[in-house]
Amino acid sequence: MLNALRTLAASTDLSARLSPPADKPLPPRIRPRQRASAESAKALWTQLRLNGNASPADEAAIADQQSLAHAEAYGRNIESFIGTVKVPVGVVGPLRLNGLNAHGDFYVPLATTEAALVASYGRGAEVTAQAGGITTAMIGEGVLRTPAFVFRDMLEAGMFINWIASSVDQLKASAEATTRHGKLITVEPFMDSDTVFLICRYTTGDAAGQNMVTVATEALCAYIAANTPVVPLRAFIEGNFSGDKKASYLGLHMGRGRKVTASIELPDDLIRKYLHVEPEAMLAYGRVAALGSTLSGQLGAQAHYANGLAAFYIATGQDAACVAESAVGFTRAERRENGIFFSVTMPNIVVGSVGGGTGLPSQAAALGIMGLKGEGKAAALAEVVGALCLCGEISIIAAIAAGHFTRAHAKLARMR
Ligand code: NAP
Repeated sequence: MLNALRTLAASTDLSARLSPPADKPLPPRIRPRQRASAESAKALWTQLRLNGNASPADEAAIADQQSLAHAEAYGRNIESFIGTVKVPVGVVGPLRLNGLNAHGDFYVPLATTEAALVASYGRGAEVTAQAGGITTAMIGEGVLRTPAFVFRDMLEAGMFINWIASSVDQLKASAEATTRHGKLITVEPFMDSDTVFLICRYTTGDAAGQNMVTVATEALCAYIAANTPVVPLRAFIEGNFSGDKKASYLGLHMGRGRKVTASIELPDDLIRKYLHVEPEAMLAYGRVAALGSTLSGQLGAQAHYANGLAAFYIATGQDAACVAESAVGFTRAERRENGIFFSVTMPNIVVGSVGGGTGLPSQAAALGIMGLKGEGKAAALAEVVGALCLCGEISIIAAIAAGHFTRAHAKLARMR
């Protein structure tokens, strides 16, 4: 940073450069457009071209025929629509799952620009399928919204909590009146001096549920505003306590979304044959990686859940920003009599088989490949995600333990 500043200072008046320009007019503003059509997209491209920000080739790359044909559908998920970016999609599988909900063989589409990623997850899928498949189960669910209420002092805050405890049935009724599928399962107050957070946990049917719980909690807050005998000085729909789109201790322990555990015992001979590594080397690396996680203050201990999560979320129309909260959990590798036991436990998988971006053309197709689109499929979808991440963990542990990690990236990414 200092070096960069020194270099720039030699050639530039830094104080002028870092100050707002005195009389430079702003270029024309993009006015947010709610509805999308081929015409509205073209109008925005005209503006970008007139400003000198885009060429006809840029327009052709983003506003292609297929994207414009589905403009209206895309418009339900975005404002100021100008087309789509094409992210390459690869497929891994079969991923053999012996799951509580996901039972059978799945081909899993992954959208990424990271070469080597699909190959790595595919390798994990292959060795686990050869070993009989991954055992997996969704063991919890509940999306959180945490409205916050500020009072004059702790006495008022405490009286408010008493009233909340006696009003749970009414809070539940007001929240659930907004949705056919959302259920408010617990309301847990968390007090800090004069401030009360209500940890509202909902099941959300087959939807990921972030919109659903927001709308429901708004209604719950309206009931509180109209009925509480202790009037807060301030109330906020979200107190930034829920772990929405960020890694948090709360999420790690209580879960936000769907909690999944996935595990397998890989026999030593299959490890040598498919992962080209000595089982003991994987365990040795596992011990170092666990130490590294602890020393660096990771929330949980895992290698790269975010890779599989981001690729899966983008391919299947999930909210990619939820990778921030989903990529926490614990990976374990332990010696058993005839092989190594591997497991992942991920408390914050935020996925839905309906709602959000799952109905968009290519995202719906990606869910269709797995047979996991629509009603009744969300629990299976979450189990596929957990198992996929287990494949990624097994593959990367093997690659680093064998000293193949850099070679694989160089071969698949740099030297193509
Ligand atoms: P949604 O598309 O807003 O809502 C799901 C819809 O599907 C509801 O209308 C629901 O009806 C309906 N539905 C039909 N069959 C269902 C079934 N079997 N199970 C559940 N719902 C069913 O999706 P969402 O999952 O609530 O929200 C996800 C979106 O929220 C993502 O696009 C994400 O980017 C965005 N998001 C919002 C916030 C926020 O705070 N607002 C924050 C982060 C992300 P009912 O409502 O009648 O049950």
